[in-house]
Amino acid sequence: MALIVQKYGGTSVGSIERIKAVAERVLRSRAKGNQLVVVVSAMAGETNRLFQLAEQLSEAPNARETDVLVSTGEQVSAALLAIRLQALGYSTVSLLGHQLKIRTDSCHGAAKIKAVESERIRDALAAGNIVVVAGYQGVDGEDDITTLGRGASDLTAVALAAVMKASACEIYTDVDGVYTADPRICPRARRLDRISYDEMLEMAGLGAKVLQLRSVELARRFHVPLVVLSSFADESGGTWVGQEDKSMENVLVSGVTLDQNQSKITLTGVEDRPGLAARIFGPIADTGIVVDMIIQNASADGRTDMTFTVPRTDLRRALEIVRGVVAEIGAAGVRHEDQVAKVSIIGVGMRTHAGVAATMFKVLAAEGVNIEMIATSEIKVSVVVNAKYGELAMRALHDAFLGLGANAAETE
Ligand code: ADP
Ligand code: ASP
Ligand code: MG
Repeated sequence: MALIVQKYGGTSVGSIERIKAVAERVLRSRAKGNQLVVVVSAMAGETNRLFQLAEQLSEAPNARETDVLVSTGEQVSAALLAIRLQALGYSTVSLLGHQLKIRTDSCHGAAKIKAVESERIRDALAAGNIVVVAGYQGVDGEDDITTLGRGASDLTAVALAAVMKASACEIYTDVDGVYTADPRICPRARRLDRISYDEMLEMAGLGAKVLQLRSVELARRFHVPLVVLSSFADESGGTWVGQEDKSMENVLVSGVTLDQNQSKITLTGVEDRPGLAARIFGPIADTGIVVDMIIQNASADGRTDMTFTVPRTDLRRALEIVRGVVAEIGAAGVRHEDQVAKVSIIGVGMRTHAGVAATMFKVLAAEGVNIEMIATSEIKVSVVVNAKYGELAMRALHDAFLGLGANAAETE
C-alpha cells in the first residue's frame, strides 16, 4: 500500500460544497489502494478574519493567544472533512497539531518544527483510518499551541510526508500546477511539468505563493516527491518539484515572479567608514527583520547613501530602529518608499549562460521601466522598480523570456 499525503488549501475547502468535493477526491485515491494522510488549511479568508478579530481588541495582540485563536481555522476544516468522510462510511480521525504531536519552538506566529511524532498517525492508519490533519499548527515544549507562519499548511504536509516517508506529497490548490508566472497577473503564463527544488525555492522566496518557502526547503532536504495539482480539475496535469537534471539546464529562464510586499528605506549622508553597516543592520537583524537587497552609493562629499528593502509588514519597526541609529551615527536623514515591486527571473540555465541580466535590463528599458536596485545570484536576477510598474515589468519579462518566440532572448 502506498502512503500519500494530500494537502488542500483554503479555497479548496472554502465551502461545504468544496469540502464534499475534497472528500470525493480523497476517496478516489483511497479506492486505488492508497493509505491517506490529508492536511487541510482553514476555509478561505478565515485566518485573516481571525487575525482581524484580535486586532479589533488590541493594537498588539499577545502572540500566544493569537496562536490559540488563529489555529482554530484549521481545526474547523479538519473536523468538517472528517465528518464528511465518516458520513460516506469511511473510518476517519482528525488530529490537531498538539495531538499528533508536531513539536516546535516557542516562536509564536513563525514557529519552527523541531520534531514530528508519527506514532499516533501510524496507529490510526494501521487501524484502517483516513487521517485528517489540521495544517499550520504545532505545540511547543510547554504544550502551548503555536503556528508555523502564513501559508504553512504546505509545510505541515511536507513535514508529515518526510517523516512518514510517503510515496508523494500532493499539494491541491486553485491552479493546476506551478506556472512560468502567476497566471492571475500573466495571462500567457504556462504550466511547468517539472521544476527543480532550487528554482522552486527561489520562486517561493521571491513572491510565487503557490508553495510556501519553508515547505520547499524541507522537501529538498528530505527528497520529498512533491506535486502541485488542482483540486478543481481532474487529476491530470500538475507540476512535479524535484531534483535538478541535465535537461533543465537547457531552459534559460523557468519563471518570473513579482513581490509587491516590499518597502525601501534610504539612509542619506552616512559617513564612509568601517563598522557603520554593522551599526545599521545589526539591530535590525536582532529583531528578526529580513533585509533583502542592499545598495550603497558613495557621494562626492565622501558620504554615502545606503538603501535597502524590507518586507512591508516590517517597515514600521525597521524605520523605528533606523531613526534611532541615524542620530547615533550622525547620518543626514531617512527616506522611505512604502511600496516597491521586486521583479525576478529565475532559472538553473543561468548557471551556464551569460548575458541574461543584460537582456533583462534591455527589456525593461524598452518598456520605459526604471530600475532602482539590482541583485543577482547563480540562478536569479531581481530588480526593484516603482510599484506601479511591477505588473507591466513582469508581463514584459515573461513574454521576452518565456512567451512564444522567446528564443530571441535565449540566443543573445
Ligand atoms: P492555497 O490556498 O491552496 O494554499 P495559495 O493562494 O497559497 O493557495 O497559492 C495558489 C496561488 O498562487 C494561485 O492562485 C496563484 O495566483 C498564485 N501563484 C503565484 N505565482 C504562481 C505561479 N508561478 N504558479 C502558479 N500559481 C502562482
Ligand atoms: N490558514 C493559514 C494561512 O492562511 C495556513 C495556510 O493556509 O496554509 O496562512
Ligand atoms: Mg498556500
